[in-house]
Amino acid sequence: MIHRDVNLKPFNSFQIPCIAQTYASFDSEEQLFDLMEREEHWPVLTTTNIANVFVLGGGSNILLPDRLHKFVIHPQNKDIFVSPLDRGMITVGAGTDWDELVAYTVTNHLAGLERLTLIPGNVGASVVQNIGAYGAEVADVVQQVRCLNLITREIEVLTNSDCQFSYRSSVFKSRPELLVVEVTFKLQVVPFFFRYIPSVLDLPTLISLSLKSIRIESASKSVKRKWRGFKLKMHFDKVRELLAVESLPIRLKRAVVKFIRTRTMPNPKQVANVGCFFKSPILPVKTYLNLQSRLQGVGTYPHSDETIKVSAGDLIKHVGLNGYQQGNVHIETNRPLIIISNGQATGHEISQFATMVQNTVLKETGIRIEPEVVILDEGEAQNLGVIDEQQALKEVNALFVEKHKQINYSRNEEQSA
Ligand SMILES: Cc1cc2nc3c(=O)[nH]c(=O)nc-3n(C[C@H](O)[C@H](O)[C@H](O)COP(=O)(O)OP(=O)(O)OC[C@H]3O[C@@H](n4cnc5c(N)ncnc54)[C@H](O)[C@@H]3O)c2cc1C
Repeated sequence: MIHRDVNLKPFNSFQIPCIAQTYASFDSEEQLFDLMEREEHWPVLTTTNIANVFVLGGGSNILLPDRLHKFVIHPQNKDIFVSPLDRGMITVGAGTDWDELVAYTVTNHLAGLERLTLIPGNVGASVVQNIGAYGAEVADVVQQVRCLNLITREIEVLTNSDCQFSYRSSVFKSRPELLVVEVTFKLQVVPFFFRYIPSVLDLPTLISLSLKSIRIESASKSVKRKWRGFKLKMHFDKVRELLAVESLPIRLKRAVVKFIRTRTMPNPKQVANVGCFFKSPILPVKTYLNLQSRLQGVGTYPHSDETIKVSAGDLIKHVGLNGYQQGNVHIETNRPLIIISNGQATGHEISQFATMVQNTVLKETGIRIEPEVVILDEGEAQNLGVIDEQQALKEVNALFVEKHKQINYSRNEEQSA
């Protein structure tokens, strides 16, 4: 059935009280076709009006406006089908909760999803966003994606390469007419011996990586979880390497990821947030080298021979915005990529706050950080990144030259004194 004026507050993790103009959900592919063919209010969609449709998943990576003038389709099909012929092949409805799927695969000794434990959201969006964590991406295990083309009203089946997966992106971002109905994953059946214990051959690596994963540091008085003046600190690169060891039992990998995530990420059921708000920018090495001297303390990761990934969280910290609060919204002090609302903020308020963060980083470093979250705040969305990048770079350069002049001037003053 199609409903009018539905409040989407319970369906988005920022808890924005957004009223959707029209809303339809379906439990199965048959019900979806039934709705489309029988409901007189189901819109006739074309390439020119397809932007009037929005497919809603678990709502954990979207920023909604106060009123959404769109036709919202909300998949609720949650079937899990395990192929009896090809063990490891598993087909799942788009409306299935992602972590419930991970739990199911781990219990059934199917490897491939365990490092993506506790990522909020549904299976449909997992391929749209190409979700990833701890060195794993959903792109690594997707066999095919079954979609409904909302314009032609026909089923399209996309192979892994058709999906054009890239960092937190896929072909679905540029093809809004594709509604993901089902995803088939190709997972590895874990051999009986490695279900509970790792391979003896991997033991030295596992022990060494486990020891390197945890550092003991002296803690300041303000640190809560400390033991006799010391605290434990995770070395995430080593944890990532540890979790990549194939023979480490998948139950253990899931437990490790659960342990870390429940301590480092805010639970979206309790704290209104969408995880990382911005993506880490990928820059040509040459551009990075030009800016490097001004980016003291900003972490980087290798990306390709010509490009380098710069930590967006470090950039936000670098410009002094970690912990910054304005109205109902603030940035997490320890994880500056996370924007948190007190549950009272409107989409417009969060969007304005994000624009301010983006523009401050651009003005002070010359680097543009793009949102990872899908922004639907119609008023402000276009304003994200209004500043011209070239202009910002010029201003940053001018500021840098000015600062150097001042430093040299005061040094000369000191010498002559
Ligand atoms: C605390 C927290 C931690 C997070 N950690 C991670 C992380 O570690 N790694 C990571 O990658 N992400 C992470 N995220 C982001 C988020 O979990 C993912 O982007 C997730 O895939 C969003 O799923 P969703 O079902 O909630 O999608 P939604 O937010 O509802 O939608 C996201 C996009 O997908 C589209 N979409 C949804 N379903 C369909 C469908 N069936 N067909 C076509 N389009 C569809 C929507 O239109 C929208 O464009 C985190 C979020 C939170 C709140």
